[in-house]
Amino acid sequence: MNIHEYQAKKILREFGVPTPAGFPCFSVDEAVEAAKSLGGSAWVVKAQIHAGGRGKGGGVKVAKSLDEVKQFAAKILGMTLVTPQTGPRGQVVRKLLIEQGVDIKTEFYAGLVVDRGSRRVCVIASGEGGMNIEEVAATSPEKIHKLLIDPVAGLTVADAEDMVRRMGITESAVMEAGALLQDLYRAYDSTDATLVEINPLILTAEDRVLALDAKMNFDDNALFRHSEIAALRDLDEEDPAEIEASKYELSYVSLDGNIGCLVNGAGLAMATMDIIKLYGGNPANFLDVGGGATAEKVAEAFKLMLRNPELKAILVNIFGGIMKCDVIAEGVVTAAREVHLNVPLVVRLEGTNVDLGKKIFAESGLPIIQAGNMADAAEKAVAAASAGGGV
Ligand code: ADP
Ligand code: MG
Repeated sequence: MNIHEYQAKKILREFGVPTPAGFPCFSVDEAVEAAKSLGGSAWVVKAQIHAGGRGKGGGVKVAKSLDEVKQFAAKILGMTLVTPQTGPRGQVVRKLLIEQGVDIKTEFYAGLVVDRGSRRVCVIASGEGGMNIEEVAATSPEKIHKLLIDPVAGLTVADAEDMVRRMGITESAVMEAGALLQDLYRAYDSTDATLVEINPLILTAEDRVLALDAKMNFDDNALFRHSEIAALRDLDEEDPAEIEASKYELSYVSLDGNIGCLVNGAGLAMATMDIIKLYGGNPANFLDVGGGATAEKVAEAFKLMLRNPELKAILVNIFGGIMKCDVIAEGVVTAAREVHLNVPLVVRLEGTNVDLGKKIFAESGLPIIQAGNMADAAEKAVAAASAGGGV
């Protein structure tokens, strides 16, 4: 689960991480009030969406007067912010963070993630933080420093200080920056986070360290033990199709291709996406209807895929084990009749009650393309999608 910058900063402050003072705001008036109560002579108006790269997309603006706070807040609230991380459709801004403007001397990068290879938490840090960190990682990987944390010892003072020296933090700020890294690790560990990223971590003109941006992701499977974090979920920021899917307990992930996949079993669903790619196509989604799906659940899954405007073809790939082929067939036929099915539908069935399933499809009167095996099904789906869809 992902949260907003203002929420992440609040959590990090509880662990001792210094951040600029700021308030989340939901209207232009609130933004101006927040700036007044912060005082000072510079404020930063920051779009709160679940994606980074906001600065580049025009979602982070420094205001030098209350009038500018008002102007920027009015401009950013409600805008569709497109950043390198939102995809081309962008994300509507519904919240702002109004923050003290800080005098930045140097921008650094510090992040924590799980390194799957070593099965440890890894600190990733760089002296070249800021809005171009992806470019630094791509062109000068030697400027990105890594440290694996021993889960028993945790992040020690010595290791933390060694890391901040490698980042090039001024000697007089090493203790403070080292403590900040340790606080980040404690926050990461105690909240079951999967990512903590501070970009930029800065040195101010007075050589104080501050987390100027904050991103946190959490392990969904551990949310049951962090109700206060689970409560921070913002459904406005999530894919409506995935929210709908979770109501029916369907495992659904939106992807950017055009071939919808309806499959039973996560492994078969992965293999189906792979084989679509192998034949030159692109899956529009991952969808596992599960082993014990009812015809109604299958119908809901089918409707979910059909909402996607990019959809050019659907591939139903079922291996009937616990799930029976006729149940799937009934669900698909019901859904296809209910909604206007306007893309080709390729079906591959195997396993329990396969003949009954095929019969239901054949007698449905729907323009279904039956396939003999997975390769045949993928080839037919890719051909149907590239023919432009439409039946
Ligand atoms: P994003 O990573 O989504 O672009 P950031 O929060 O990192 O958003 O902001 C982008 C840039 O704006 C930062 O790299 C920093 O230079 C500047 N910035 C952000 N917050 C402040 C602040 N409180 N004071 C001064 N500058 C800021
Ligand atoms: Mg940033």
